[in-house]
Amino acid sequence: MEKLSYDIVIVGGGLLGCATAYQLAKRKAGDILLLDGNDIASQASSRAACLLTRARTKPGLMEIVQETYDCIEEIEAMTGEELGLQMCGSITTASSDASLKGLEELEAAATRFGIPNERIDHKRLKELLPWIEADAVGAASYMPTDAFIDSASLCQGYAHAASQLGVTLKPNCKVAGITAEGDRITGVRLQDGTEISSAVVVNAAGAWANLLMRPLHIGLPFTPVRSHFWITSTDAERFPVNHPFTVIPDARAFTRSDVGALIIGLRESQCQAFDPSTLTDKLEDFDFNQAAKWTVLDECAPLLKAYLKDIDTLPIAHYMSGPSCYVPDAKFVIGALPQYVGLYTVTGCCGGGVACGGGMGRLAAELITGEETFVDAALFDPMRFGEVDPFAPEFQKRCADARSNKKGG
Ligand SMILES: Cc1cc2nc3c(=O)[nH]c(=O)nc-3n(C[C@H](O)[C@H](O)[C@H](O)COP(=O)(O)OP(=O)(O)OC[C@H]3O[C@@H](n4cnc5c(N)ncnc54)[C@H](O)[C@@H]3O)c2cc1C
Repeated sequence: MEKLSYDIVIVGGGLLGCATAYQLAKRKAGDILLLDGNDIASQASSRAACLLTRARTKPGLMEIVQETYDCIEEIEAMTGEELGLQMCGSITTASSDASLKGLEELEAAATRFGIPNERIDHKRLKELLPWIEADAVGAASYMPTDAFIDSASLCQGYAHAASQLGVTLKPNCKVAGITAEGDRITGVRLQDGTEISSAVVVNAAGAWANLLMRPLHIGLPFTPVRSHFWITSTDAERFPVNHPFTVIPDARAFTRSDVGALIIGLRESQCQAFDPSTLTDKLEDFDFNQAAKWTVLDECAPLLKAYLKDIDTLPIAHYMSGPSCYVPDAKFVIGALPQYVGLYTVTGCCGGGVACGGGMGRLAAELITGEETFVDAALFDPMRFGEVDPFAPEFQKRCADARSNKKGG
C-alpha cells in the first residue's frame, strides 16, 4: 500500500524545493516526500539565464551563493553526474558616477570575501568581450571565478542527490491544500483527495506559493514579476563560446554567452507584476504578455546601444520570459510561519534562485532541524513586513519596484 505518512512534505520541485530536500536529507532530517504538480525542474527553474554571480553587497548573500557552488561540487562527487558548470568569469562595467560607486562597493565586498577581482583596461576588455564598444565603458571589473550553469540540470542534480539520500520524489502530483488542525499543520491533501500526513510542510511552490497559503489566511510577502531575456542568432566569432557574462548597470542589462549566440537580459524601468490568482498550472499556458518582447526591447535598446552598437538590427532568434518572485526589500522569504506549528516556506527568490538555491535550501533546512544558522535568518524572516496581502495591486507594485530598482545581475 502507498505510504501516506512522512516527517516532512515539501511542495514544489523547482530549485528551491529540490535544494531544500537535498539539504534536509543531508542532515538526516527524517522521512521526506517532495511533491510537484508538474515535472521536476519544469517551471521557473527551466527558464533562467543561469548566472551564478558571486560578489554581492547585501548581507548574507555571498555566503549563500558560495553554498550553491559547494553543493554543485558535492553533488557531482556524490552522484557521478556532471552538472555542466561553465566557469566563464564575469565583467561588471561602470560608466557613470553612481555605477562607479556601486562597482567599488562590489569589488570591496568581493575582496573581503576572497573572490578574485581585477580592474581591466580597454585592451583586455576587448579581448574578453569582442562585441563590446570599449570606449563606452568607464571602468570594468573582471571576476574570473564567476560561472553559469543550466538551471534545469542543477535542479535535477539536487533532486537526484536528494533521492539518493532517501527522499521520495513524486512529480505530476498536485497539492490541493495544506491541512491543519487548530494551530498545527497535519499534512497535505492531493488533488485526487488523498490525504498525506506530516507534522512539517515546506511551501516551496514558487510563483504559486501564495495560492496554497491563501486558505490558511497567510500572505507571503512577494508576487511574481516578469523576468526576460533575448537570444541573438549565432555568431561565434563575435560571441565566443563561454566568454565572460557581463553586468552593465548603466544599460539596465546583462549578457551571457550561449553556444556562439548572446543572451541579453534587459530590465524595463517599470517591471510587470502578476496577480498569482491569474497563473495557470503550467507556465507554458500563461501569457506573460508576449508583446513585451518588442516593447521592452524598444525601451531598453537605446541604453544598450552605446555598448552593443547594432542592437537595433541584430537578429533575435529567441525570447524567454518567466516569473521571478520579488519581495519589496529584494531579500528572500525563508523560515517558519508562526500562525501554524510545522509550516515553513522557502520562496521569494528575487531572480536569484539559481545562484542562491543551495544556500536558501541550507538555511531552510537549518531552521527546520533547529540547527544554528550559517547566515542571519532574521534577514529573510517571512513575517518581517507584518501582515501583507499579496493579492492587492498596491503590494504587487512594491514587489515589481524591487525588480525595477535592481542594480546587479
Ligand atoms: C527569465 C528568467 C531569468 C532568470 N535568470 C536567473 C539567473 O540568471 N540567475 C539566478 O540565480 N536566477 C535566475 N532566475 C530565477 C530562477 O529561475 C528562480 O529563482 C528559480 O527558478 C525559482 O525556483 P522555485 O523553486 O522557487 O520555482 P519553480 O521552479 O517555479 O518551482 C516551483 C514548483 O512548484 C510547483 N507547484 C506549484 N504549485 C503546486 C502545487 N499546488 N502542488 C504541487 N506542486 C506545485 C510547480 O509545478 C513548480 O515546479 C531567472 C528567472 C527567470 C524567469
